[in-house]
Amino acid sequence: MPIPTDHEAGLNRALAAQVDRYIARTPASRAQFEAAQRSLPGGNTRTVLFYEPYPLAIARGQDCRLWDADGHEYLDFLGEFTAGLYGHSNPVIRAAIDRALDDGLSLSGHNLLESRLADLICERVTSIERLRFTNSGTEANLMALAAAKAFTGRSKVMVFVGGYHGGVLTFAGGPSGVNVPHDYLYAPYNDAAAVDALFDTHGAGIAAVLVEPMQGSSGCIVGEAAFLQRLRERSAAAGALLVFDEVMTSRLAFGGRQSQLGIAPDLTTLGKYLGGGLSFGAFGGRADVMAQFDPRAPGALPHAGTFNNNVLTMSAGIAGLGSVYTAEAATALNARGDAMRARLNAICRESGAGLQFSGLGSLMNFQATVAPIRSVADLQATDPRVKDLLFFFMAERGIYLARRGFVVLSLPITDAHVDRFVAAFAEFVDVHRALL
Ligand code: PMP
Repeated sequence: MPIPTDHEAGLNRALAAQVDRYIARTPASRAQFEAAQRSLPGGNTRTVLFYEPYPLAIARGQDCRLWDADGHEYLDFLGEFTAGLYGHSNPVIRAAIDRALDDGLSLSGHNLLESRLADLICERVTSIERLRFTNSGTEANLMALAAAKAFTGRSKVMVFVGGYHGGVLTFAGGPSGVNVPHDYLYAPYNDAAAVDALFDTHGAGIAAVLVEPMQGSSGCIVGEAAFLQRLRERSAAAGALLVFDEVMTSRLAFGGRQSQLGIAPDLTTLGKYLGGGLSFGAFGGRADVMAQFDPRAPGALPHAGTFNNNVLTMSAGIAGLGSVYTAEAATALNARGDAMRARLNAICRESGAGLQFSGLGSLMNFQATVAPIRSVADLQATDPRVKDLLFFFMAERGIYLARRGFVVLSLPITDAHVDRFVAAFAEFVDVHRALL
């Protein structure tokens, strides 16, 4: 076994001490984890939430706060991986859910709500002429790819290393045993020359190019405008459909990230907060592509889903878009995120530590490197223990973020909450400066 350097030994010691304190203060989370293993493999039903030695068990939430099973309070800077935009208890969302409940669940028919939510989304994201609802972002992407393959009569799908489009469409860590078996072409992110080469060789066979305008799960790696524009041009020229996965990024502006870029994809997939915090997904775009799903058309493509139009999601989604996440609210939330990231990056710079926060607007990710991050390859050499150390350090101070360093703002977060995060991060850099 290689002998650890002083620096590594110090990092291991600091992390072990931090984890020991976590274990000491979270016995109820540990008990919950042990009990859950009776019927859930590894006590888990959502892989992203698991971490060693055991994950926090969250008992309840209110506005932007969470309480774990031991009663510790946390400021929620994870926001359900972006789905929790409205916080845990927005009264407008709650009233909308109550109203839907008043009229009854599971109505077995077209209802009065689904077209209203569809209208609201089409008004915001102008490239979406028609859309259909699903129950998750994963399903939205599955359906978008199926639509593109049927529309083009082609089979190849270009995806990007580090991309994440759902549990069965994940391209981050090499081949996944549960991915759907499309005929994939893998391109490096933000590499227009590599995309050109793939189009030159395979252009006539490509049905779809599926891309996140910012790779969220891989660490808020921003897609460069020129690169995304190149995807637009090459896919149009080749007759392939460009699919923007805006499951995370649609919150970055009233019209989604595509409105900031000035790029109109053929199809867009959505998810997360657009259902008001309830299960949600949608895929939509060009009317001619979506017309394949018009049930009156001869040979129409079927698209099923018992809960696609469930009244709780539809009602909460309408309330959220109609009166909470307005254009002004979207601008303010993302400006708060930009300002917060600038303060955090100033702390990183001034300390001389090898750290930064990547991201856009209300979405950001802590990174243990100062080098520019243009693709997952740029993160390969970073030390995951630094993120672990930050996670447990912040949790001890009542601040909850993703173990992988993902930080997300929700609407109830105020400047005072941001101040608390920034102060705790400054303390982290100060205490552990020698290790960073
Ligand atoms: N696409 C992106 C960009 C995502 O971030 C996610 C979820 N993290 C998905 C798709 C899948 O959405 P869901 O978890 O609702 O299936």
